[in-house]
Amino acid sequence: MKLNFTSIPALKDCVHCGLCLPECPTYLATGREAESPRGRIAALRAVAENRSEISAAIHDGLESCLVCRACESACPSGISMEQLMASYRQQCRQERSDLPARVESWLLREVIPHPRRLSALVGGLRWIAPWLRRLPFAREIPSAHRLRPAPEIPEVMEAMGSCRGTVSLLRGCVADRIFRAETQLSARLLAEAGWKVVIPSAGCCGALHHHAGMIEESTDYRRQRWRELAADGVDHVVIESAGCAAHLNSTSSQPTGFVTDTATLLARGGNFTIQQKLPGRSVLSLACHQQHSSLDFDDGTELLKNCLEEQIQLPAPDHCCGAAGMYMVRRQELSRSIGEVARDRFVSSQADQIISGNPGCMLRWESLLGTQKVISPVRLLAHAGGLESL
Ligand code: SF4
Ligand code: SF4
Repeated sequence: MKLNFTSIPALKDCVHCGLCLPECPTYLATGREAESPRGRIAALRAVAENRSEISAAIHDGLESCLVCRACESACPSGISMEQLMASYRQQCRQERSDLPARVESWLLREVIPHPRRLSALVGGLRWIAPWLRRLPFAREIPSAHRLRPAPEIPEVMEAMGSCRGTVSLLRGCVADRIFRAETQLSARLLAEAGWKVVIPSAGCCGALHHHAGMIEESTDYRRQRWRELAADGVDHVVIESAGCAAHLNSTSSQPTGFVTDTATLLARGGNFTIQQKLPGRSVLSLACHQQHSSLDFDDGTELLKNCLEEQIQLPAPDHCCGAAGMYMVRRQELSRSIGEVARDRFVSSQADQIISGNPGCMLRWESLLGTQKVISPVRLLAHAGGLESL
């Protein structure tokens, strides 16, 4: 199979400087050049220039990329690993027939974009999870309280006091079933702060499909969600998952700040006052797309820091927790060992809790640390603003 990267000149832009290596979680976990950004680019270039076949070893090195984008922030040549990997995975999808790949395709095509099927699957898991969790491949099944029936959510929530404008809130797909209480809380915080909140029906934005190289499906789902969310009269689209936010915003011509999250919108204005700080020592963990996409969440991050009594910095930059969407299904072993590195850094920091917001990251941290130690940003805000105690 020959790869076609004619629309992406990036392969030749790599100057082999190695600045990306210390940022790459898979390289740090394995120590293998083939599992580093530089090694992956060299392999892609060799195949694209017909100097090499896609051997099993090359495919394995490419498939192990988390698409966390940490290398992008370090790279002086501005290489987008996200684009390269999406293109590679799109071109080699037909070749993949191993069991994890088939499970991933089935979930992405037949389950995740269909709210009723997804809900039925999660509902079924609730009953068999205690037995399944004993099996090594099922360690990532969400904790029992995440599998309970999701609470009702209104289509519209009116602003409290004078109205600052209208925001629409993404419910998402997996997040809508497992983290709906968080979405509900987000809507209450925004309404209390003076925003009218519109909440379209649940649906997938296609970010997971993009990760897996299913570009057509990804584009279709993104267009559908964008049409519903960015309707006339909407001032902001609020999304708690940074990966979904970056994906939905990727082709948007809206001004900076149109796509945002609850913390950032509250930080930039509205009726929100910190009444109490979260006691204890907290790690504020930013999702990869919060750190490495073009979206600006800095004001929200600052507000979250101000809600903490004591913030603990981990000893190294905030590396990926290894969840990375469907990666934790597809590459369980490597995903878990990257997660365990992150867990060891948390434990040695002697922090009491971690603030983490992306649905995948929250599930990962809950499975590594237990549910008591993981707090979502909206729960932290609700506690700080006196809306709900923790
Ligand atoms: S996207 Fe993440 S895992 Fe992939 S090469 Fe870059 S740093 Fe490594
Ligand atoms: S930082 Fe960029 S240019 Fe340097 S080795 Fe990594 S990918 Fe190549």
